Amino acid sequence: MNQKQRILVTGGAGFLGSQLCEILVARGDDVICLDNFFTSQKVNVTHLLDKPNFELIRHDVIVPIWLEVDQIYNLACPAAPGHYQYNPIKTMKTSVMGAINVLGLAKRCNARVLQASTSEVYGDPEIHPQTEDYRGSVNPIGPRACYDEGKRAAETLFMEYHRMNKVDIRIVRIFNTYGPRMHPFDGRVVSNFIRQALDNQPLTIFGDGSQTRSFCYRDDLLQAMILMMENESGFTGPVNIGNPAEFTIRQLAELIIELTGSSSEIVEGELPVDDPTRRQPDIRLAKQHLQWEPEISLREGLEKTIAWFKTIDLAHYHPPTPNY
Ligand code: NAD
Ligand code: UDP
Repeated sequence: MNQKQRILVTGGAGFLGSQLCEILVARGDDVICLDNFFTSQKVNVTHLLDKPNFELIRHDVIVPIWLEVDQIYNLACPAAPGHYQYNPIKTMKTSVMGAINVLGLAKRCNARVLQASTSEVYGDPEIHPQTEDYRGSVNPIGPRACYDEGKRAAETLFMEYHRMNKVDIRIVRIFNTYGPRMHPFDGRVVSNFIRQALDNQPLTIFGDGSQTRSFCYRDDLLQAMILMMENESGFTGPVNIGNPAEFTIRQLAELIIELTGSSSEIVEGELPVDDPTRRQPDIRLAKQHLQWEPEISLREGLEKTIAWFKTIDLAHYHPPTPNY
């Protein structure tokens, strides 16, 4: 797509959204960043505020908004377990009403709209690695359900707006992604371990650390997301995006201790309810339709992320907004 696009990024001040805005602004598109700053800080986008092709709107996606755009990346939703469990009802409203509102906007504007879905739609998976046709194993009444079921319902809405109203949709299922601009207090494993290691504090493994995750570096992920948005073949997804290299949480802890040169020990804590045991994306669809695969190894990505953590002032980062 060579023409300049008017692009709305909901959740555009967050970890992934702010870097996405930066990429789109740099290539010359007109970018509207919409965010209620529930889990993000203005500092993530202040460097873009003086760009003529960047606008920032404080708004909540559960409320409809009237704009004219060509593309919508729908990223607004708390992503870390501690953040999405802060107000589970609001998390579900954000996923479901947010989806209805961006889909309505896309329908009116004839815009293309991409949903940032998640590997959590697979729940605690019984098949490994996870393929897109696997329907998942989600506990609908557990503490993760507000996020998992909200994202599943959002996928349903995307498909129905596509089937009924011919809305031009894209669905990407994002697997654990990390990198610079992660919220340092989001409670996710990478941010916790890096902060703990840099402070020479014990690294808190939940359970015995044998559970696995497959970690994707931010830039690889965003490249795939943009390729999906710009794909002209009619492929709507859902498509898994992630790095198939699978690690136990203990291996991750050991690697972060090595890379930071920390004297931290590893301690074991309680495993959260419904914590998925294994997670690894099958990315054959992404390879086939997007000619994409991740390039940045966990070691290389962690080195970049640790370097960023060393530069930030933690006083800039607040916990989730009260009364959200
Ligand atoms: P993030 O928390 O940094 O970003 C989410 C952004 O959405 C924040 O800026 C937050 O303030 C905003 N937001 C939350 N609720 C809102 C609302 N009601 N109205 C307007 N803005 C709202 O998280 P992230 O890691 O950048 O995740 C971005 C998207 O990608 C999310 O939809 C998330 O579910 C999805 N995702 C991320 C990962 C990952 O590993 N990072 C994995 C799977 C899916
Ligand atoms: N985890 C951990 N210590 C921490 C934070 C998380 O051992 O300080 C574990 C958590 O129980 C899970 C894995 O790391 O098994 C990934 O957790 P995260 O919250 O980053 O993401 P998600 O569970 O959503 O994949």
